[in-house]
Amino acid sequence: MDRYDVIVIGGGISGTSLAHACARAGLSVLVAEKTDAPGGCIHSHRLESGYWFELGAHTCYNSYRALLEALESKNALDKLLPRAKVPFRLLSNGKVRSIASELSLLSLLAHVPSILFASKEGRTVRDYYEPLVGRGNYERVFGPLFAAVPSQSADEFPSDMLFKKRERRKELPRSFTLTGGLQTVVDVLLDAPKLTLLLNAEAVAIERQAEQFVVRFADGSEHRGRFLAMAIPPNAGARLLKPGFPALADALSHIQVTRLSSIGVALPRRATPLEPLAFLIPLDQRFYSAVSRDTVPDPTYRAFAFHLKPELSLDEGLRLICQTLHTDREQLEHVVQRHVELPSPRLGHPGIVREIDQAIAGQPLFVTGNYFGGLAIEDCVLRSNAEAARLLKAAGAAA
Ligand SMILES: Cc1cc2nc3c(=O)[nH]c(=O)nc-3n(C[C@H](O)[C@H](O)[C@H](O)COP(=O)(O)OP(=O)(O)OC[C@H]3O[C@@H](n4cnc5c(N)ncnc54)[C@H](O)[C@@H]3O)c2cc1C
Repeated sequence: MDRYDVIVIGGGISGTSLAHACARAGLSVLVAEKTDAPGGCIHSHRLESGYWFELGAHTCYNSYRALLEALESKNALDKLLPRAKVPFRLLSNGKVRSIASELSLLSLLAHVPSILFASKEGRTVRDYYEPLVGRGNYERVFGPLFAAVPSQSADEFPSDMLFKKRERRKELPRSFTLTGGLQTVVDVLLDAPKLTLLLNAEAVAIERQAEQFVVRFADGSEHRGRFLAMAIPPNAGARLLKPGFPALADALSHIQVTRLSSIGVALPRRATPLEPLAFLIPLDQRFYSAVSRDTVPDPTYRAFAFHLKPELSLDEGLRLICQTLHTDREQLEHVVQRHVELPSPRLGHPGIVREIDQAIAGQPLFVTGNYFGGLAIEDCVLRSNAEAARLLKAAGAAA
């Protein structure tokens, strides 16, 4: 059994950014990830040829200051790759259309004055935006557009959690990925001398013994840590924490979780007639979105990640994809399927976050994830930085 200063359960951006901050301050850190690769919702599928495409997150912005600061500390800003400007498109009755062409401008203009009185506080996305754009526009266009952001209906999300205004670093590209895809963020942050990554390591039990955490894994192995950080979806965290930390587990169990199924496909450029685009969002919501690799154009390949409703089988998904891309199954040279879990915050979410923070106050236990400020990568890094600062204070280590 190995001993570390910190054990981080979960190798997504929340876990890796927290681990990076702790390792940077000189602590020994173990990141335990249940699957065979770190990244979680960040997953760049890489081919031997060097071509890659995203199965999950795809875009970072120059307003992601906490993320950029972490990358800068690893001298990795030279890996930033600006995204090419290609349009968003809607899919309406099988036809690719612009957003403007699907909106009722009359209704939009009639509702614009209500923006003067709008406040996001205590309102859902639907409650806030429907009066601003008109009911028809919301139902038909904005509802599906907003659902494409968290890959689930956003109607009941607290409106202040979906989009955030953040200060930009104007010397950097407005929106970017990295060479090798967004997964490079995770690779860079995990590359530290005092940081160990354990893959295929599903934590199944947590115990507190003699001022230490003992984490047991599915293969029967155990590791010890002075501090423990949870960076896994709230439902998984609740299950693990229930025996030792029931109040925390109870708070986590109040956060709804949605399962998302994504299929990524790469095909020769000539195999689809679709115009270059960044996203394709179907108005009939048969899927949430198709995210393309056209933002980093390639002379040979194009690739798309379709974010689907979880009940679709691989076969049904591929049929839908071929129909949308106007192509045949034989043209799909690479097909990858992935499932992730995402939080579905509701009004009253800040109360749950307060309960979580109360349950861990003064404990050697830390909780991060995409269910604090919001789901964006930057929200994860901000929460991880705050928890790392609390941990380093408890450890008496230099920040
Ligand atoms: C399709 C999609 C597109 C997105 N696009 C963007 C975007 O463009 N820009 C943006 O800012 N954000 C985007 N997001 C949101 C953002 O990517 C996620 O919210 C964020 O990456 C979540 O990171 P996380 O570390 O909190 O959780 P996760 O990424 O879910 O990581 C949790 C990790 O914990 C592991 N785990 C679970 N249980 C255990 C266990 N018992 N033991 C060990 N490990 C365990 C999981 O395997 C997983 O790797 C997108 C999300 C999705 C799904």
